[in-house]
Amino acid sequence: TASRGPSSLNPGSEGANDAKNLKVKLVLLGDSGVGKSCIVLRFVRGQFDPTSKVTVGASFLSQTIALQDSTTVKFEIWDTAGQERYAALAPLYYRGAAVAVIVYDITSPESFAKAQYWVKELQKHGSPDIVMALVGNKADLQDRREVPAENGIEYAEKNGMFFIETSAKTADNINQLFEVFFVESIESCCSHMA
Ligand code: GDP
Repeated sequence: TASRGPSSLNPGSEGANDAKNLKVKLVLLGDSGVGKSCIVLRFVRGQFDPTSKVTVGASFLSQTIALQDSTTVKFEIWDTAGQERYAALAPLYYRGAAVAVIVYDITSPESFAKAQYWVKELQKHGSPDIVMALVGNKADLQDRREVPAENGIEYAEKNGMFFIETSAKTADNINQLFEVFFVESIESCCSHMA
């Protein structure tokens, strides 16, 4: 199972001791073109709009989720906006991140290899208790699949990560990715703090 803990949760402006309103930095990593921006737009705006890129230079999008016990979790979702090409800049993105979503494209073995590079990078330089999810996107392109789901599952299991296949195009599993995995991880963190 993924390691979980409160130390990389950044308290919100509401105050450091206010466990009811948490702010969580979430970073997306993965090869250019795997669908990171589309996943974020699908989640935040409920749209699939490949022409609407997340603005380069914008720091993040945010989305607040309310849990049953009236805790709110504000996700600050950082998209690398193409800068993942410049490896030296990467640590700026994942510093302080509580959650990392590492995305590949199921039609691209190269992107799967790149995802594994990012996992190693985060294991070396990310927060020790970072929660990581491995995401095989473009699951609607079954006839062009080159990365079997089993490969993703196996790699994720070995590395203590969540795994899911998504399609930003059809919206398959997008809400599950954010709501189930991360709310679960935050809930376990909150009960740990209580
Ligand atoms: P990024 O560079 O990782 O942010 O990738 P983008 O979000 O810009 O998407 C790259 C391309 O992949 C765009 O042309 C999207 O239309 C396409 N795309 C993204 N997600 C999906 C998906 O789930 N299915 C399909 N078929 N295409 C997708």
